[in-house]
Amino acid sequence: MFTLIKNVKLVGSESPGFKDLLLSGPRIAAVERPGQVKIEGLEVKTIEGSELTAVPGLIDPHVHILGGGGEGGPATRAPELRLEDSLSCGVTTVIGCLGTDSVTRHPSSLLAKARALEIEGLSTWIYTGAYNLPTPTLTGSVRSDIALIDKVIGAGEIAISDHRSSQPTFEEFLRLVAECRVGGMLGGKAGVAHFHLGNGQRGLEYFFRMLEESELPATQVIATHANRNRHLFSQALEWIRRGGLIDLTCGPEPTDPDEVSVAEALKEIKSLGLPLTRVTVSSDANGSLPVFDEQGQLVALTVASQKDFIRNFREVVREKILTLEEAVAVFSTNAADFYRLPGKGKLLPGYEADLLLLDDSLELKYVFSRGRMMVEERQLKVRSTFVI
Ligand code: ZN
Repeated sequence: MFTLIKNVKLVGSESPGFKDLLLSGPRIAAVERPGQVKIEGLEVKTIEGSELTAVPGLIDPHVHILGGGGEGGPATRAPELRLEDSLSCGVTTVIGCLGTDSVTRHPSSLLAKARALEIEGLSTWIYTGAYNLPTPTLTGSVRSDIALIDKVIGAGEIAISDHRSSQPTFEEFLRLVAECRVGGMLGGKAGVAHFHLGNGQRGLEYFFRMLEESELPATQVIATHANRNRHLFSQALEWIRRGGLIDLTCGPEPTDPDEVSVAEALKEIKSLGLPLTRVTVSSDANGSLPVFDEQGQLVALTVASQKDFIRNFREVVREKILTLEEAVAVFSTNAADFYRLPGKGKLLPGYEADLLLLDDSLELKYVFSRGRMMVEERQLKVRSTFVI
């Protein structure tokens, strides 16, 4: 099956500008000057792209695909992600993770869920492990999970500086990162240790100590929720200066004045002249958003959604905080590079045909995931296996 998108403005390619884009099966077959692609004798679906902009499908590197939560008892276990939740928000690739609950949720069910979403039409990878250290695995070690299981690209989300963490010592932290590094080397993967940062004053202390006291490089770890409070975000800026990467979590508009919104964070990173290539954004979707009182008691609960992911993507462009090119990097390409997701995050020949066709208001007119048209003329065309 071929799809030819004619005369579309390309962003996220090494040859931006107006191009014809040919999709063949799950891949991008050609990116050429308008009128250069000629196909005869084969059935081709043609889309006129002159009013549209093509960008790579968004990549969300932190999603509780199996549902997170559970911090308020069994009734607070969050629901699983559905295919429609992602595709309707322009997300074509997710990295799934467990969270606080490694008692009733397991890496094996996370892997099965990732495979299910992949069959349904998303591209998926997972982190092995959960909040606690030692962390649960599929094969008995983080190292062999990463080395042997295709979908496992690292460990996460491991909690530090949080009252829900297992209060890991620095040595436990370091050992986990080392396991990820060697597992990544053996498996030919990124082997990233993806850390959940809580509100604890220690913040990124272990990250900085890792640079001082070990041979492990800054790029072996990533700090997620780096914008959750001003103190942590200041440390995160320093972490970028030292060559590290951070992940910003986009939730609903912050109500806590100490929280730094994704828009504010990106504005600040850019104004300080720090490289946007060291920043990703994620949704934390289907994780619970617990609200605790001063005694650490749960007082309210809500669920994160990828609607906030695409809302933030649009907002930073509309408010001219980032150019569309920069936003594509932060919401797609950087995650593909950092987690080494093959064939993802760019619109180039040979890459996977994950792309969004946006109108002038950055609304989704078409969504393709591995060459399949998932949204056509603003209508979602596919459904999960189970109709609910
Ligand atoms: Zn988290």
